[in-house]
Amino acid sequence: MKAEKFTLVRHFDGYPKTTDFKLESEELPPLKDGEVLCEAEFLSVDPYMRPYTMSMTPPFTMIGGQVAKVVESRNAKYPAGSYVIGQLGWRSRIVVLPATPGPDKSSAAGLEPLPDMGGLPHSYALGVCGMPGVSAYFGFLELCQPKEGETVVVTGAAGAVGSLVGQIAKIKGCRVIGFAGTDDKCAWLRELGYDVAINYKTCPDIDAALKEAAPKGVDCYFDNVGGMLSHRIRQQMNLFGRISVCGSISSYNDKTGEGAQVPVPEMTTVFKQLRSEGFIVTRWWHRKNEAISQMAAWVREGKIKVQEHVTQGFHNMPQAFMGMLKGDNTGKAIVKV
Ligand code: NDP
Repeated sequence: MKAEKFTLVRHFDGYPKTTDFKLESEELPPLKDGEVLCEAEFLSVDPYMRPYTMSMTPPFTMIGGQVAKVVESRNAKYPAGSYVIGQLGWRSRIVVLPATPGPDKSSAAGLEPLPDMGGLPHSYALGVCGMPGVSAYFGFLELCQPKEGETVVVTGAAGAVGSLVGQIAKIKGCRVIGFAGTDDKCAWLRELGYDVAINYKTCPDIDAALKEAAPKGVDCYFDNVGGMLSHRIRQQMNLFGRISVCGSISSYNDKTGEGAQVPVPEMTTVFKQLRSEGFIVTRWWHRKNEAISQMAAWVREGKIKVQEHVTQGFHNMPQAFMGMLKGDNTGKAIVKV
């Protein structure tokens, strides 16, 4: 059986380029006892792939999660015709032994049956009911501990994680302000229930806009982007404000490394007695089903709306990834095979 995969042939230098990737064919071996043959249905492109691959030595198969169909099986737990999720990389097909870690060794979740999402589309297992949803749920609720009536700011607000955080904050009765990179994204955020949405690329005065949007100051900040935008938001935090540091995408493609060197407003941190904590979602992986079932329930009840930015075709994985890093996506960026 033939399969295709994308190999990363060199480390990214600045923004990823198509020449960083190579499409390769391989012949898959026949199945041994316990193994399954998986065929990708949806693949995820995520920001972490950009910084994470810098710690790996090229050439290697690009890392990433996918929803796949079991098309052949010698494992009773994963019968042919069932669907699975796993860190199987940028591969169209793969033979796996389910109990082992994924081929990229980055996760113990090599392969699992699709979670019970109560009839929601399979692709949601890569978004609202997957890694981004678990990040939004625990990263916000555990680290920000939002209370009804508080003011919450979210950056990267129209993306996979951010769009969910803002909606969870509304469910919890908070005032929610989102920053995103286009007017269309901001209009969508208002549809989702965000009280104020600000285009950080065109806003002439971020400080004044935030002051107007959050006249009582900011109690919780969910930081997806880092950089100077975060620096500015931190200065408007209230006493005992909580900051959940989820990502710093503004620096991922920065060649100089200076983008990640942002001044911390120390006086504000001290006198406002702020708590700022970074997280990696795997911290809560043993509790992921709690988040998945709650997120799925909120989606079914219409309390959380989901949008996907779907790129068609396995061969377009690099384009989907590069586009997501530049902000093409509203909601979760995925590839449909
Ligand atoms: P998104 O769906 O939000 O996609 C990335 C978005 O980042 C783009 O659409 C773009 O939107 C925005 N962006 C790109 N460059 C910049 C920039 N220079 N400044 C501000 N925004 C920028 O991705 P995810 O929701 O999957 O991830 C969001 C963040 O969360 C990332 O930093 C990611 O690394 C992090 N993350 C961390 C996890 C953890 O365990 N800690 C788990 C999952 C995600 P725009 O048009 O608004 O600029």
